[in-house]
Amino acid sequence: MQRPPLVVWILLLVVLAAASAFVLGSPQRLGGALPYSTFLSEIEAGRVTEVVIEGNRIEGHLADGSAFVTFAPAPPETQVVRSWAERGIEVRVRPPGGSSPWVGLLVPLLAVGLLVLGFWYFSRNGRGAGDSGGAFGFTKSRARVLSEAPKVTFKDVAGAEEAKEELKEIVEFLKHPERFHRMGARIPKGVLLVGPPGSGKTHIARAVAGEARVPFITASGSDFVEMFVGVGAARVRDLFETARRHAPCIIFIDEIDAVGRKRGLAVGGGNDEREQTLNQLLVELDGFTKETNIIVMAATNRPDVLDPALLRPGRFDRQIEIGAPDVKGREEILKIHARGKPLAPDVDLAVVARRTPGFVGADLENLLNEAALLAAREGRREITMADLDEAADRVMMGPAKKSMVLTERDKRITAFHEAGHALAAHFLEHAEGVHKVTIVPRARALGFMMPAREELLHWTKKRLLDQIAVALAGRAAEELVFDDVTTGAENDFRQATGLARRMITEWGMHPEFGTVAYAEREESYLGGYENRRYSEATARRIDEAVKELISEQYARVKALLTENREVLDRVAEALLEYETLTAEMFQRVVRGEPAEPAAPPKEAPQAEKRRVIPKIKPGGGALGGA
Ligand code: ADP
Ligand code: ZN
Repeated sequence: MQRPPLVVWILLLVVLAAASAFVLGSPQRLGGALPYSTFLSEIEAGRVTEVVIEGNRIEGHLADGSAFVTFAPAPPETQVVRSWAERGIEVRVRPPGGSSPWVGLLVPLLAVGLLVLGFWYFSRNGRGAGDSGGAFGFTKSRARVLSEAPKVTFKDVAGAEEAKEELKEIVEFLKHPERFHRMGARIPKGVLLVGPPGSGKTHIARAVAGEARVPFITASGSDFVEMFVGVGAARVRDLFETARRHAPCIIFIDEIDAVGRKRGLAVGGGNDEREQTLNQLLVELDGFTKETNIIVMAATNRPDVLDPALLRPGRFDRQIEIGAPDVKGREEILKIHARGKPLAPDVDLAVVARRTPGFVGADLENLLNEAALLAAREGRREITMADLDEAADRVMMGPAKKSMVLTERDKRITAFHEAGHALAAHFLEHAEGVHKVTIVPRARALGFMMPAREELLHWTKKRLLDQIAVALAGRAAEELVFDDVTTGAENDFRQATGLARRMITEWGMHPEFGTVAYAEREESYLGGYENRRYSEATARRIDEAVKELISEQYARVKALLTENREVLDRVAEALLEYETLTAEMFQRVVRGEPAEPAAPPKEAPQAEKRRVIPKIKPGGGALGGA
């Protein structure tokens, strides 16, 4: 698909100019003009019904409805005109010069508009095709190439320790690809950064390039979404072509969900263009050889809508979550963006951090900027705490933030809910302990508790029962503390019920049903489904057994929490204060010590520090939901 060449635009302009000249310059477009003498006699005969006077040009209608135009030697005198009016002729007068004021204005305006539009069109498509030549190429990607490595490094990224840790390997690879090649290591290609807008996905990707000192090539998924079939795919090809010339380098694709949505869901033919674009992206990813030395990073807020093909091994097989920062993280981010801004002595960024739960990096940057503006407007030399307070309110009032701000009560409920999960995981003998608890909101959960899992080959019955109890503990804590329950435990129930059912129907762990496999699971990447092999009566009995099992465990875990109510309160309060508790902090709070040691000695790197969280066998991941 080619875009119309320059010639077409020039031709269009010429035609337009000619047309306007015709319209403006031809007074006789109504056919031959009436002789003035004839006009006068028609007036005398009373056959003229209306006239429009425009200087010495007069047009009008005769009684029989026909139109005429005539030219007087001079504009008719007022007296003459009055006499016409007295005869019952409708007289209108237009300012002279231009057959119609509209045409006179419109045509030049249109011409200029068209010109501007044309230039805009050219510059837009020609822009930023990097050095890939052909400034007017329609099919060139609109990628922006930073041939210089970005100046941002990990030092400029605050509060995303886990993400940075995971990305260090990528940095190493980009710095010394040959080391990896020598070892015959399979190199990661695609990294998916998942997180809400403004949480710093672009920022951290850029920092990876900055750390490794390699070029950073950015594109947005929406750049590839075009009307014409094949254009998006061609742009993808061009993007990777550009990258190959700059390797080793990073390609960053923002909003990858714009191209990466699941294919074949649209009814009636689907979306050919997008499918082709996505296919091309897959082809490019698969086409990497060992020596390609390109890392593709992509960002999305909606990993769930991505085509599973994109997430297969060898493509975007690594996901890194860039969540909203916790209190500590927010303070660090504030510190980074406060650099170069004069702060009054009364300013305490830790307090600001505490006031701004749910704020992401972009919000915090915005907050400091607003505060600086406030101070500047009043001619002050320093930013005060009052400025920061006011700025926080403004950012919070922003349209995007309103829905994100949690009420105090929401936060309390979430804190107790997660504390419940954590306590169960800690106290139950066969449960897995706690790796991390947080009430920082995530995509679909208000908080979560991440168990410290060990790689297990066998799930024992006792362990499964404890697992179910842990899942139910969030709701149990809510009921215990608030004497009321919320809807936030839906996911927990699904997990508990799923485990209970499989214990009975698949793993032969219920005395009544014995060691018979009642169902078989067909695994698919959509999650699998159950293949039933039992009667209706058995089905009913299974449902009852599941219910019994669940309520037994619920009662058990509620009793456990009641017994340890004080610990539950302590953990919940600590969560409200710190938002995220690491394993060490959690242990301390459980023991009744402060979450953070008074004089922080250099925290000895404990064995637990970087524990791998393997994909869980049955039951699914962290316990989300409020
Ligand atoms: P995203 O790509 O996730 O929408 P950005 O990377 O564009 O978000 O972040 C917007 C801005 O917020 C960045 O320019 C950066 O200045 C700031 N920011 C976000 N996260 C952080 C962070 N962890 N540390 C420092 N600044 C951050
Ligand atoms: Zn829960």
